[in-house]
Amino acid sequence: MQKIAIAVHGGAGTIDPSAMTAKMEAAYKNALSLAVRRGHGALSQGGSSLNAVETAVRVLEDSPLFNAGRGAVFNADGGHEMDAAVMQGNDLRAGAVAGVQNVKNPVSLARLVMERSGHVLLSGRGAFEFAHRCKLPLEDDAYFFDQFRYDQWQEVKGSEQVRLDHSAGEKKFGTVGAVALDVHGNLAAATSTGGMTNKRWGRIGDSPVIGAGTYANNETCAISCTGNGEAFLRAVAAHDVHALMAYKGLSLKEAVRVVVHEKLPPLDGEGGLIAVDRDGRVVLDFNCPGMYRAKIDEAGEEVAIFR
Ligand code: ASP
Repeated sequence: MQKIAIAVHGGAGTIDPSAMTAKMEAAYKNALSLAVRRGHGALSQGGSSLNAVETAVRVLEDSPLFNAGRGAVFNADGGHEMDAAVMQGNDLRAGAVAGVQNVKNPVSLARLVMERSGHVLLSGRGAFEFAHRCKLPLEDDAYFFDQFRYDQWQEVKGSEQVRLDHSAGEKKFGTVGAVALDVHGNLAAATSTGGMTNKRWGRIGDSPVIGAGTYANNETCAISCTGNGEAFLRAVAAHDVHALMAYKGLSLKEAVRVVVHEKLPPLDGEGGLIAVDRDGRVVLDFNCPGMYRAKIDEAGEEVAIFR
């Protein structure tokens, strides 16, 4: 019987266990578990991997705990500009949005870009107009407000500093993502983010760039990344995992290790990624102290933050 598998992440970074209360840890783990179970539910009913990753990412976008959808970080103008992407591995179709505002679930907009726009990547006002035309749910700025993110922005507002999603003594990337293998043998990946606090000039990270933060190919695997986007863009990190498997014959585990622990660190690439291969093997790897993550595969469910 064809295997199914799914994994999700809610960002990575310097997450200090001593700075996290038991209550916070439980809240993060519950949200990750809910997301991975919803996605797995879709897969076990014979649903597509694309449905599964969209479903899982929407759960995380709707939670203010993560830097995506509700709870997205503030840009330099005090707004929220979000990036998201989806890709399916059977035909290499992909859809993405960058710098989009007021869309409740950017991952669903990315999917519609793939299915209905005839394009791969839409940005800014045009992406918003397309969302409006597709009648996707929109929210006013108040919906995206989160006190914690607001306080983070206040610390750097008016300065040149662009910050990763972190608080004092803690550096973490709160982007969310999902990868899945469905019963039809198809792989899919999705990623969604608010990017970086105090970002300016329409900065776009790796998440919506196919091959950098998001990639899926039935020949090999599906990948969703989290970390400082500039490094992941320069490393073409997600596609590199695929390429190491396709052209060099590496296993998923080894390909991920090379990218996360050898290629990214010299570029100051801190973070991690989640991946699933066409045989349902899941790899969750990172080069920093922690990554919010969960998976359900043959071995069952696992939810973790630290190593
Ligand atoms: N990769 C994201 C970006 O640079 C940040 C994150 O992973 O949280 O936009």
